[in-house]
Amino acid sequence: PIADPAADAAVRGDDRSHVFHSWSAQALIDPLPVAGGAGATFWDYAGNSYLDFSSQLVNLNLGHQHPDLVAAIQEQAGRLATIQPSMANATRGELARRISEIAPDGFSKVFFTNGGADANENAVRMARLVTGKRKVLAMYRSYHGNTSTAITLTGDPRRWANEPADASVVHFFGPYAYRSPFHADSPEQEAERALAHLEQTIILEGASTIGAIIIESVVGTNGVLIPPPGYLPGVRELCDRYGIVYIADEVMVGFGRLGTWWGFENFDVVPDLITFAKGVNSGYVPLGGVVISDRIAAHFDTVSFPGGLTYSGHPLACAPGVATFEVFRRDGILERVRDLGERVVRPRLEQMAARHPSVGEVRGLGLFWAIELVRDRQSREPLVPFNAAGADAAPMAAFAAACKKAGLWPFTHFNRVHVAPPLIISEDDLVRGLDVIDRALEVTDAEVAS
Ligand code: PLP
Repeated sequence: PIADPAADAAVRGDDRSHVFHSWSAQALIDPLPVAGGAGATFWDYAGNSYLDFSSQLVNLNLGHQHPDLVAAIQEQAGRLATIQPSMANATRGELARRISEIAPDGFSKVFFTNGGADANENAVRMARLVTGKRKVLAMYRSYHGNTSTAITLTGDPRRWANEPADASVVHFFGPYAYRSPFHADSPEQEAERALAHLEQTIILEGASTIGAIIIESVVGTNGVLIPPPGYLPGVRELCDRYGIVYIADEVMVGFGRLGTWWGFENFDVVPDLITFAKGVNSGYVPLGGVVISDRIAAHFDTVSFPGGLTYSGHPLACAPGVATFEVFRRDGILERVRDLGERVVRPRLEQMAARHPSVGEVRGLGLFWAIELVRDRQSREPLVPFNAAGADAAPMAAFAAACKKAGLWPFTHFNRVHVAPPLIISEDDLVRGLDVIDRALEVTDAEVAS
């Protein structure tokens, strides 16, 4: 990249004067002006380039400016740029068919939305209409989106200032072996006790009032929490026993992040509704949706579904979705994610865990990993407190700054670093990025030692 101070100043100027940013105190932020990107890298106007180890917001599965996705958008724009959802469209129909082909047996229909939040919003709506029951159970450690029901489903602190947007949501504890809310000392015990807790929650809230349980198949932003063996099948069993719809939120892990099309495939379970967004087209044009089991879809065969969006199944968004399927097949994306995850990332992160006193645990699957940072490995005290901001979060900010200085854009959240690069990253770049993280951990080691 070539430094262009005039462009840098112009982009920064318009942004600071006129763009109101997400989740931020507007006067306290300094958004990086980005000039361009290619593959796993993007660059600014100051001559710096960054290896994107966060895939933007864990959506850029096929990387920046993938030629097949860009061409698909251009081709579709030249043919039919938009069409309203109540008409049939070739590109939308093809994408829906391809998604149903990778879904479990008995999932034939797809409802398209503009992103992940409204996918969850509409999945909950379907569950409520089909069961006639309003309440929804969701995990404390979760993120499900920013619209009214989705932000209420969200367990993390982004919910707090928005409460109560939907009075019919109840939170429960999911499994988290490293910080077990159940004082379990094995994954089996964690699964068993988490299921007992969930069943007690169902009984005390009243099974006759609960329409749905929504779970990220691997909790994403809130920790890359891999469910212990038996947990999700146990949730399935509880849902069957109590007449509850099981919604799998696959917005972050669907479309290859774990080396499988869907996250739940790793855990021997089939939900009733699957929500997706992000990786379906790498976020090149906003798109999300709900894959609907035939039993639930049949409910709406003769009863109208009371929901819709002007841009449901927008052809410009569906075209890169169709291209995504082609690229995954041609380039063996799922296989390479599994290979890189196990052969390159897992051993390297385990080495870091052994070497760096500030690393408490590493965990993950495919190209989705967390490094959990602690002050003390014995007590497991987090490096920074839950929901830390400002001065409290300084050690994490120092870590992120060290990464950026070395040309890597990291994903950090509370006391964790996530490793979530584009699935097309080269092995060399992956190793180079892990080298940067390894060195930057010396900053957090020093914090722990002081
Ligand atoms: N669900 C999960 C698991 C997510 O990670 C996100 C976004 O990060 C969402 C839902 C919300 O998606 P969107 O921001 O597209 O509305």
